[in-house]
Parts: sequence; structure tokens; C-alpha cells
Amino acid sequence: MRADIISIGTELLLGQITDTNAPYIAAELPLLGIDLYWITQVGDNRARILEALGRALDRSEVVICTGGLGPTEDDVTREAIAELLGEDMHVDPALEEWLRRLFKGFGLEMPDCNIKQANLIPSAEAIPNSRGTAPGWWVEREGKVIAALPGPPDEMQFMWQNSVKPRLRLSPGQGVIVSRTLKTLGFSEARVNEMVREYLCSSNPTLGIYAKLDGIHLRLTAKAGSRAEAEEAITLVEARLKDLFGRYIWGYDEDTLETLVGSLLREKKLNLAVMESCTGGLLASTITDVPGSSEYFKGGLVTYSAEMKAAFGVDAGMLARVGTVHPDVAVAMAGAARAKLGADIGIGITGVAGPSEVEGKPVGTVHIAVDVRGDASSLSLRLPPRRIDVKRRAVFSALFMLRQRLL
Ligand code: AMP
Ligand code: MG
Repeated sequence: MRADIISIGTELLLGQITDTNAPYIAAELPLLGIDLYWITQVGDNRARILEALGRALDRSEVVICTGGLGPTEDDVTREAIAELLGEDMHVDPALEEWLRRLFKGFGLEMPDCNIKQANLIPSAEAIPNSRGTAPGWWVEREGKVIAALPGPPDEMQFMWQNSVKPRLRLSPGQGVIVSRTLKTLGFSEARVNEMVREYLCSSNPTLGIYAKLDGIHLRLTAKAGSRAEAEEAITLVEARLKDLFGRYIWGYDEDTLETLVGSLLREKKLNLAVMESCTGGLLASTITDVPGSSEYFKGGLVTYSAEMKAAFGVDAGMLARVGTVHPDVAVAMAGAARAKLGADIGIGITGVAGPSEVEGKPVGTVHIAVDVRGDASSLSLRLPPRRIDVKRRAVFSALFMLRQRLL
């Protein structure tokens, strides 16, 4: 089965927003055994949407479009679908009632323009939207499907997961594709490439190597007649990769280091404090991206200058002797974070984000220390010299190191 995705919205063509809806859906289609061959972006222009839809419906069995379902004049996706199929729109009484109730719930009078969101055509049924006012359309004609979803990503994703994907799964597929990503940190891309060489030429599953800021990802993809068969093919190679990489595999698929570390801290009833220099608060920010992190994260100090490091407990004599970018300073920062914030574990990070060297230390030099109840270990890295990436990689390395200590 072939699919087309159409992202609709003039903002996309003006460069004001980036299309995240199409990649989101694109990543889901292989799991349904649907081959995606085309993604189109088109503005809020009825004639051009009509053209894009017509072309998509000619060559694909499934057309998924997002955007253009708002209440305003410029949102014309429904009109274009109706025109393409030569069907007339009518206000659906059940949808109208739902919309009016929704507005009443907000304590508002429904504006007249919103009534168009209750429109349907005979071939369409509404896809419920529990997060906004725009229902989607599920349209079936001559064995083909058009699914129209609203543009806001949270609404689109919810409707995709709960309404569209389950229906597409019921359609007869031509085999199922299953993927599994193993996330490693600690080896270079070249080294990983060498380690997995024998699997790189395998065709089922295929193995892809992707260098990311949180490490090197290994993606296994298998195609088979059923999900169980595809999973079996993956499991065989996965087991061998696990033997090869051991504890350097830190997670799978959607896992993030901050979430995994958070779960470990919670499980072990330990709390954490950080003192950061070159990452400027990014470590604390990343840790607190996880809901509920207040359970284990006490707080962080951003001691960007030498005086601040000393003011918060790093020995001034040491700073004068070795400078601010030194493994001993990272260890002292981790200890000071623990002491000042009264935590079980402290992390210290110091380094050179760039673009110029500091104290004669090259850009990308980073020292990280993890202090678990007075038992400190440190790690020194030389990261590729791009300021933002040095900060991000330093944060992931710190979280990886903490994970290793907690296991
Ligand atoms: P619409 O459904 O066209 O009214 O879209 C409403 C809003 O959703 C837009 O202003 C964007 O903020 C967002 N949006 C629409 N299409 C996309 C897309 N393809 N990717 C990411 N965000 C989008
Ligand atoms: Mg729009």
C-alpha cells in the first residue's frame, strides 16, 4: 500500500514554521507496512491544494493531510477535498451540537465562522478531536482513503494515534516493517562501524548507524509477513549487539537518558544536585524536562566564573593552581554541589565550549565528575568543537556517567 502526505499551510511555505507533522507520520507508516513515496507542502490555496490532493489520490491508496481545518476563511482543506470528490458539504447536526457544547463549556458564544468545522461530505466521517475545535475527516472512496487532520501537532498526534492509525492497521498490508533502535554512548561512530561490520551487509534486518548528540544509535529494521516474524528477526541480531556493546547500550527506541536516570534515582531513593560551568544550566534544564523530577532533583548552581566556583565551595587555592578547566575542579564542583545542596549525589561539569580556547585548553575539552556520597569519579572528554553541541554532548555524557554509576 502506498501513501502520500500533504502538509497544508502558507506558514510552511513562508519558512515561518517547520513541518513536523509529515516527519511524525512518516516515521509511523513503516510500522503499518505502508510505503511512503511522496511528501508535499502546499499553501492555504484551494486550487493548489486540489491539485496536490488529486495527484496524491491518483498514485497512492492512502493520503494523509494535515492543516487547513481551522474556522477561518483561509483554511480550505475541507472545501478542496469536497471539490476533488465532487461532493457537497453539509453541516452535520451531531458535529454542530458537539461544537456548540464545547464553546458553552468555555463559557463562550460560538462564533459564526466555527460552524464550518461541523461540515462533512457524504464520503466523510468525522475523526473526533478532544483537544481542539477541528474534527478531522476520514474519507473513503473506491478503496482509497483520505485522512485530514488539523495542523496543531498535539491535536494531530492524538487523533493519529487514537483514530487514524488503528483504522489503517486494519487495512490489508503487504508485510510489516518493525524497527528497533539501540542507543549507545562511549564509542566513536568509526569504532561502532567496525564493531558491527558483519551486520551492515545483512538485508533482513538491515542495520543503520546514526551519530546523534546522545551517542551512536543502531537501528535494526526487519520486514516480514507478520509482526511476530519481523520481531523475531530483529531479536536475533539485537542479542548479538547487546553482547558486543554491553553497558554501553543505554536505551532503546524512545528512551531518553534524562528519563532513565530519573527512574534509577527514584528507584534507589537517591537525590541529585549539580554544579555547572560550560553547560550554563543545560544539565539542570535537561534533568527537569522530566515530569516529576522534583522527587529526586534538588537543584543546580551555574558557576560560570572562577569567583562563583570559589564562592560556592571550590577551593580557591586549587583554582589558582590548576585553572578552572581541570578534572580536579570537576571533582571539587561535584563535591561542592552535594555539600551546598545537601544531596546524595553531585555532578560537576567544567570545560571549554568555544569558539576560543580557555587557559590554553582547546575547545571541546570537558571534565565531568560524579560524586556519590563522597565517592567521586571523573571523565575527561575532547568533543568536536561546536559550541552548542559541546554543551549538549557534555550534558548527555554526564547523564550517561551517572547512569553507569547508578547501575
Ligand atoms: P491549521 O490547522 O492549518 O489552522 O494549523 C494551525 C497551526 O498548527 C499552525 O499555525 C501551526 O502552528 C501548526 N501547524 C500546522 N501545520 C503544521 C505542520 N505541518 N507542522 C507543524 N505544525 C503545524
Ligand atoms: Mg492553517
